[in-house]
Amino acid sequence: MGETGVRPNYEQMSWLIFQEEFQSEEDCYNWLYVTRWPKGFTCPKCNGKEYWLISTKQRLYKCKKCNNRVSLTSGTIFHKTRTPLLKWFMLIFRMATSKTGVSINEMARELEIKDYKTVWTMAHKVRKAMADRDARYTLAGLVEIDESFFGPSFSGKRGRGTEKKELVIVAVSVWKDKEGKERPGFAHAFVADNADAETIGKILMRLDVSREEIDPLINAIRSDGWRSYQTVSKNLGIIHHRAVLRDPKDSMKLLPWTHKVIANAKAVFAGPHRGVSRKHLQSYLSEVCYRFNRRFWGREVFHRLLFACASTNTITRDELMSKKIGQLSQ
Ligand SMILES: [Zn+2]
Repeated sequence: MGETGVRPNYEQMSWLIFQEEFQSEEDCYNWLYVTRWPKGFTCPKCNGKEYWLISTKQRLYKCKKCNNRVSLTSGTIFHKTRTPLLKWFMLIFRMATSKTGVSINEMARELEIKDYKTVWTMAHKVRKAMADRDARYTLAGLVEIDESFFGPSFSGKRGRGTEKKELVIVAVSVWKDKEGKERPGFAHAFVADNADAETIGKILMRLDVSREEIDPLINAIRSDGWRSYQTVSKNLGIIHHRAVLRDPKDSMKLLPWTHKVIANAKAVFAGPHRGVSRKHLQSYLSEVCYRFNRRFWGREVFHRLLFACASTNTITRDELMSKKIGQLSQ
């Protein structure tokens, strides 16, 4: 490979590694078993170690001590699925390693699943796992915060009060490396009804570590100086760095990190997802942030996402259609 001067295709290589690790349903179930019960079966009710295997096919166990029935997939996004785990794992691999997100049509073909809706729902369950994982991470230090509008055209027109577009507030923690160069830390994005002080305050509080912390971790905000931010920073007792925008184009220079996340989201929504409905905008934003937050993880990213999927509760299609996952009202 090296002699031809062509660079190896790492994405292709990691796919080969995937295929080596997961060749059958058995391989997937074994992975799940070891991940859930590293020290062998453990009853979640009584910690009993002995069990009867009630159903091999459904991986249903019964605790010998308390008769509790435990499904291997309970407490994971795979619970009650009728789709083979191998197909799930393939989808998770694609979602983890893709730079921009996967096309559902393409995945349906690749996984040989005829029903588009099945794959669409699976992808949303994976997005829920992404959102749940990121909800554990909080913002710290200097927080850069900005807002943008997402609408049918995704033109990203700046300005407040634009109609028929969804307001999205993006917050990124910023830290300085040894050379004093600014680096972006964690990013979060929220669909919001408005950008008033209460909403901004809610976002910052939600992303805080804990109220008992003596020193507030969020000690400074950088924004474009919109009045809400001034009120919030005053209320929370944090420093507010105001980046004065004379020209909207300057936002790229003055608020570089939020701008990058917004640009990523707009590129993704214009690409594989071909426009995102209002209802599911939050889920797609969570996916964009998840990816941004793990941009340096390299090959680990697949196993980490698989682990996230195996450690969060699933959501039904009905819930998916009626809920706005991760939104501020929660
Ligand atoms: Zn038990």
